[in-house]
Amino acid sequence: MRKEKEIEVVKLMIDVYCRGKHKHKKELCEECEELWQYAKARREKCPFGDEKTFCSNCKIHCYKPSMREKIAKVMRYSGPRMMFYHPVIAFKHVAETMKYKRKAKKEQKGVKVKNDKEKD
Ligand SMILES: [Zn+2]
Repeated sequence: MRKEKEIEVVKLMIDVYCRGKHKHKKELCEECEELWQYAKARREKCPFGDEKTFCSNCKIHCYKPSMREKIAKVMRYSGPRMMFYHPVIAFKHVAETMKYKRKAKKEQKGVKVKNDKEKD
């Protein structure tokens, strides 16, 4: 996934979140703007460059804890809503995630993993 493209998707998700949760219509509120700038900066510095899956699927989790918490909230909130606002992008994300999970499963073949169930 191209860096620019993913950054765009993250922006859209923060937009949806801020609109719904903070009732900001045109611009992001201060808190969301900060999160967005942070997310953008992290992605710019990502060692995987364009050869990477979505950050949500990434093994590194380079966000600092407070920001990770925030972005996780945004994803939880906006994820299902993306299907409504931006169905094409949402579908791509789902497809990408499934592809990644299949691959991860293959890699884990034969290895028993505890707490395999996803927490939502
Ligand atoms: Zn906001």
